[in-house]
Amino acid sequence: MTPPPLIALCDLSKTYNDGTAAKPVFTALNLEVEKGEFLVLLGRSGSGKSTLLNLIAGLDNPSSGKVLIDGVELSALADTERTLFRRRHIGFVFQAYSLIPTLSVRENLSLPLEINQTEAIEANCRIGNVLEALALSDTIDRFPEQLSGGEQQRVAIARALVHDPSLILADEPTGNLDLETSRQVLSMLEQVTRSRNKTLIMATHSLEVLDIADRVLTVHDGKLVEVPTR
Ligand code: ADP
Repeated sequence: MTPPPLIALCDLSKTYNDGTAAKPVFTALNLEVEKGEFLVLLGRSGSGKSTLLNLIAGLDNPSSGKVLIDGVELSALADTERTLFRRRHIGFVFQAYSLIPTLSVRENLSLPLEINQTEAIEANCRIGNVLEALALSDTIDRFPEQLSGGEQQRVAIARALVHDPSLILADEPTGNLDLETSRQVLSMLEQVTRSRNKTLIMATHSLEVLDIADRVLTVHDGKLVEVPTR
């Protein structure tokens, strides 16, 4: 029997109402994403990539339809349960790194573990392992401002992975980086998520991802369209 998909979007629609007019972003999207898949959402600014990531994360509610993560329907959960579910199962990487400037790398990585009540010894092991995988071991006691942009984004990737979520959502993770650093960060993100069999969904403008993604989708006229990669 094939395992169920990690993510299922069923007839998902989202319309924003900006006070004067209803503005549909998606209408009746259907999509399944398997465990371990690396999926890219490509598309111009304003096409709906962040909206889709927010719906998948349960940070926003659909206008109609469902998001199922590992069979759990997010919009059917109460707010507190949904927050707990998200903290346990999802890691985020944002364009602006979003590290806490007054905390060291170790302390930034400790936060998702403390929230999930991981014991101190296990937490230290996890932090050490994920920093090693991202070639960041020597940054552990430094503060974000003492790191380059590429290093800060690798720390943000480490923070997204450290509590071992099944799903990583990345919204324009290389948007603030130069081309060479973007390539390096993308390649590390790919390696570290694939080696841990994580599912990765990344919104980006960056065409380099075409070579490393399993599937590339674009939002067009409120629908998801698959882009041929090779
Ligand atoms: P992308 O991530 O591809 O740049 P977004 O998901 O941010 O696109 O936005 C998709 C569309 O939805 C845009 O037209 C944007 O203006 C609109 N939008 C996004 N968030 C809101 C909101 N909270 N209220 C009203 N409209 C919104």
